[in-house]
Amino acid sequence: MPPRKNAKSPSPAKGSSTLRRLRVVAASACLLIALAALIDFRDIVPNHLKHVFTSIQFVPSAITFVTAFHATALACLLILALTFAFGRVYCSVICPLGILQDVISRISAKIRRKPPYKLPAKKAHNTLRHAILAVTLLAIVAGWGGVALAWLDPYSNFGRFASTLFRPLAVVANNIAATIATALGHPAAIPQVNVSFAAAGALLPPLLIFIAVAIMASVRGRLWCNTVCPVGTLLGLVSRRALWRISIDKTACVKCGDCLRACKAQCIDLRAGEIDFSRCVACYDCISVCDEGGVKYRWHGVSARREPKGAPKTASRIPNSIARPPPDANRRAFISTATFGALTAIGATALSASRDLAQNGAQQGTGPKGPGQHGQGRGRKRDFSKLDNPGVVAPPGAQSVARILSQCTACQLCVSACPSHVLEPAFLEYGNLAGLMKPRLNFDKSFCNFDCTVCSDVCPDGTILPLARDAKHTTRIGLAYTAHPRCIILKDGTACGACAEHCPTGALQMKKPPGHAEAVPLVDPHYCIGCGACQYACPVTPKAIVISGIEKHETAEKLVQEQVAPTTTDDFAF
Ligand code: SF4
Ligand code: SF4
Ligand code: SF4
Repeated sequence: MPPRKNAKSPSPAKGSSTLRRLRVVAASACLLIALAALIDFRDIVPNHLKHVFTSIQFVPSAITFVTAFHATALACLLILALTFAFGRVYCSVICPLGILQDVISRISAKIRRKPPYKLPAKKAHNTLRHAILAVTLLAIVAGWGGVALAWLDPYSNFGRFASTLFRPLAVVANNIAATIATALGHPAAIPQVNVSFAAAGALLPPLLIFIAVAIMASVRGRLWCNTVCPVGTLLGLVSRRALWRISIDKTACVKCGDCLRACKAQCIDLRAGEIDFSRCVACYDCISVCDEGGVKYRWHGVSARREPKGAPKTASRIPNSIARPPPDANRRAFISTATFGALTAIGATALSASRDLAQNGAQQGTGPKGPGQHGQGRGRKRDFSKLDNPGVVAPPGAQSVARILSQCTACQLCVSACPSHVLEPAFLEYGNLAGLMKPRLNFDKSFCNFDCTVCSDVCPDGTILPLARDAKHTTRIGLAYTAHPRCIILKDGTACGACAEHCPTGALQMKKPPGHAEAVPLVDPHYCIGCGACQYACPVTPKAIVISGIEKHETAEKLVQEQVAPTTTDDFAF
């Protein structure tokens, strides 16, 4: 019988395989790129790189695949093919949330001064994980995919952690360093940056989910991936019969339990000599720690379940405390149901998306109609309630509030990439929980730059559709409403006109209404695009000009003589 190894300290670093080293390097690179894209408070990372990296994430790519097929949509097919060939490589290398969990496990192990996992094998929570996947698919079929995926999509969750939690921390660290540099007489070495924090309501969901993920990762490795994450469950169904799989070579295995204690997925049943490959996240840690060559990554073929012939090398040394996961009796039935559900969901999403696109396309060009009207221009009834209860404003390119609610997965890449910082995660501004954490424009903080198309450049799942600069110039996302009694020209007799000065389209002009001695701002809604430059520029509180969002974006008319647009917030004196 071979000598017993020190069961207390199986170290994945020991005898680390080339495969594992490659995986660690690739995973670290993916995590760093994802963090750089989402934390980038100096706008260093090019937008197209942000878009490409985030578009290869499974859910954004799958959404693009069914809504607007283009090159990045192929990523989800590639991930499925990779999974069928090699197992859940996506979970071990590409998914930033998965890699983050490994980092948290390692940090927590260092703090607790214990080996990172040393977890007993556990039965899969199949009922729960399959139910979550089924509910997600049903939500997609019902047109609520954006709501379900906003909570469950791993990339979007990671995006919110990075953008809402880590980014402000990075900014604070930068500013502390900048203060120290200034005190040491080198103010130019590290410039201060000003990035706003999300409102407390919008901060809470990502914070709570982060705490849940962190606790699970510290205590039970990839429990989140194998219980909650619908992408993990879906890929698990595909990987069960992967062509190349990790499996136990019973002729070499001495049942020392090292692999089991190194497994972050708790998926090795050493008593039966089997690995539940639906939960294996292809990290190769088990291969690394096995000195006997008992864990192998090898060809299994399309349907065959080939185990090496020969008698087991030794009897089990696994303590009784390590459970043996019983087989899942309902697995086959569920797989057929889930596969059918997935196909139905994809079909239904494609249909609903094409309907949405058709409707949005049809309504392009429907600007306000009819002849002139007091103060607010032609063809629109003046609605004073808009001043106190302005509707939420969705980003340009999103085409409608409904599209944001049903399709956006709230990854917040657009929020962190927005150079004007006018985008912020919504709390209840969309009027329901479906809008929680999704992007909205806040014109009290900034305005939507006339020439900017960054959010439509970076959005990975096609919620914010690409907008050419010319199209952006006439894309109406809201409408300006004036409250003349609040305007300091009438209230205090002070000269102003900041709003008209900053209006990039010429929709807002200073005019003397009949019977008035002073010129006051008047909006012609035919030309207004709702960019918010006027609201942001207005120096009074409450604002004398307010943008109200519109349910469906429209196309504004273009003034023949277009005014010069303000391009940065630096143009403002306020
Ligand atoms: S299971 Fe989900 S969260 Fe975990 S690594 Fe895979 S995709 Fe990411
Ligand atoms: S709209 Fe913004 S938050 Fe929503 S998916 Fe696109 S980039 Fe992410
Ligand atoms: S600044 Fe923008 S929102 Fe205000 S009136 Fe002009 S176009 Fe409309």
